[in-house]
Amino acid sequence: MSDSKTNKCSHQPCVCVPSAGEKYCSQFCKDAGSEETEIACDCGHAPCAK
Ligand SMILES: [Zn+2]
Ligand SMILES: [Zn+2]
Repeated sequence: MSDSKTNKCSHQPCVCVPSAGEKYCSQFCKDAGSEETEIACDCGHAPCAK
């Protein structure tokens, strides 16, 4: 069992994992993080790219 916490990006639709101590994986998510109407993430990272 790992004791590492799940540290998903705080931007709801984003599935990326931010750097340690960060709430968001990118500036994009940091800007979008307060928007509750977002339905898709466009941060550009591979996990979110369609
Ligand atoms: Zn993302
Ligand atoms: Zn993100």
